[in-house]
Amino acid sequence: MIELEGLTKRYGDKTAVDQLSFQVRPGMVTGFLGPNGAGKSTTMRMMIGLDNPTGGSVRIDGKHYRDLAEPLKYIGALLDAKAMHGGRSAYNNLLCLAQSNRIPTSRVSEVLDTVGLAPVAKKKSKGFSLGMGQRLGIASALLGNPEILMFDEPVNGLDPEGIHWIRNLMKRLASEGRTIFVSSHLMSEMALTADHLIVIGQGKLLADTSMADFIQQN
Ligand code: ADP
Ligand code: ADP
Repeated sequence: MIELEGLTKRYGDKTAVDQLSFQVRPGMVTGFLGPNGAGKSTTMRMMIGLDNPTGGSVRIDGKHYRDLAEPLKYIGALLDAKAMHGGRSAYNNLLCLAQSNRIPTSRVSEVLDTVGLAPVAKKKSKGFSLGMGQRLGIASALLGNPEILMFDEPVNGLDPEGIHWIRNLMKRLASEGRTIFVSSHLMSEMALTADHLIVIGQGKLLADTSMADFIQQN
């Protein structure tokens, strides 16, 4: 369970994230909808400690991210900025991440299988297509077998097969009881994946509702 309370981020006199309070619950896909520039990425970066809030807090299972002893075992994220070391193979990229986070190295082959990259595991990731890079990012998020997974605009730029694969993966992870939080600027995409919807605009919370209710009211 993720809990945001009054989460705020200011850049100079611009308020990118404005007093956001909501919860993200386990066992379902929660969509995070808002137009480009609404503050979704900034919010997600603060959720995994890559950015410091100006105000408010994020709690992961009751704790601040910085107090999680082994964060990748609690929460895994696919954020666009999370680039891999291009000169390393997919396998070695994940191996380094496993070793520096005390994750059993046997997980590396498991997650490469899960994302369908086992056949190219020894290839340098800089030669990867966008879709393969996305799969590698997802593999890194899954590495610690976390209960919480966050995906920032995961289907952007992917072909229909890749989009279909990511949607199914998120649903499967949710059906295993995990907490899935996924952002998009497209309502059409959210309608196909999310069970619950958080809508923001200009950093502010606009709606926090089940998908069924949202569709009925709009
Ligand atoms: P979204 O992910 O919904 O597209 P972002 O979180 O990327 O939105 O951005 C929210 C707002 O914060 C935008 O107006 C953006 O320009 C601004 N912003 C994001 N990061 C920075 C930064 N490092 N410095 C200044 N402004 C930023
Ligand atoms: P950098 O390569 O920019 O130094 P790190 O890999 O050290 O970044 O990660 C910075 C922070 O983000 C760390 O606290 C780390 O635990 C967290 N982090 C990195 N990758 C992920 C991920 N896939 N999911 C969740 N948190 C991550």
